[in-house]
Amino acid sequence: MKMLLVEDSRTIAMVMRARLESFGHEVRHAANGQIAVELFQDEPVDLILMDIEMPGMNGFETTARIRALEGQEPWAWTPIIFVTATDTDSNLVMAIEAGGDDFISKTAPANVLQAKMKAMSRIAALRMRLSLANRQLQDQANRDGLTGLLNRRAMDMQVDTLWEHAVRSAAPFGLLMLDVDNFKNYNDHYGHLAGDECLRAVATCIGEHIQQTSDGQTAPCAFAARYGGEEFAVIIHGPSCRLYADLAASLVDAVSALRIPHEKNGEHGVVTLSVGAACASPATGNVGLLFHQADELLYKAKAAGRNRAAIA
Ligand code: GH3
Ligand code: MG
Ligand code: MG
Ligand code: MG
Repeated sequence: MKMLLVEDSRTIAMVMRARLESFGHEVRHAANGQIAVELFQDEPVDLILMDIEMPGMNGFETTARIRALEGQEPWAWTPIIFVTATDTDSNLVMAIEAGGDDFISKTAPANVLQAKMKAMSRIAALRMRLSLANRQLQDQANRDGLTGLLNRRAMDMQVDTLWEHAVRSAAPFGLLMLDVDNFKNYNDHYGHLAGDECLRAVATCIGEHIQQTSDGQTAPCAFAARYGGEEFAVIIHGPSCRLYADLAASLVDAVSALRIPHEKNGEHGVVTLSVGAACASPATGNVGLLFHQADELLYKAKAAGRNRAAIA
């Protein structure tokens, strides 16, 4: 483990360091609380051994500072073991209250020190796994299971945030509603499993297209979501919003260029999309109206023969 040893006594620090290194740990030493906080900010460690009595900032105050720094990262947590000369009950209570995790006496035998650190490293590893699992769960909750695109819920949240931002920056906001043409027929003719496969292919195509649009921009300017069933939505914001009409047309072309056979899609013969493309300025419009407008345009694209975009 990588450790930070906070100890003002040079002699004790030397003895402890030698002991810890003999267990195979890598030790950085801080001779006071201030240096400890600086070293901690500089580089994360797996464990901190903290002296209590130190001139200036004592061990409790130093721990509180370190915990406050970690507080900015919800899952960050470094085990802290207090090391002190006076092995009293009140010291133990204060150590835990101050945000420490365990307590050890300076005179504890080597095997006790080693055992405590083993226990702490186990907890630290568990915590790391939890943190990773939590991040993965959060990501899964935002994704649609079939296509991997953002789901409706995540999209609604993003749209709210971006719209608020757009109101302040007065930047326009584009919305494309995309719907697979005659998809009920596709399911009826090729089967529901083939329908799922088709939706995945269309979603991947849309996602990759959006990625290309965002490439080279300083910030992601567009994202795609599965709006429901065989409908998708693309949101475009920021300066690139004026690309929304081009993007709508090129998405229609990209999906028909996949050439996924669809015998029951009128004269098109392959899987196609219809798109309604609307753009609004947050200064004058509202999100509900924008969705309504895109929906009406989508209906127009359908009525005009499908495999096309109707643009505001
Ligand atoms: P239009 O061109 O007017 O949009 O016709 P359509 O047949 O695509 O529209 P409709 O709304 O009548 O049918 C949509 C179909 O999409 C019906 C539904 O079974 C199918 N669908 C929705 N979600 C899924 C899915 O997750 N998997 C599969 N395989 N089919 C789905
Ligand atoms: Mg001391
Ligand atoms: Mg539909
Ligand atoms: Mg459809």
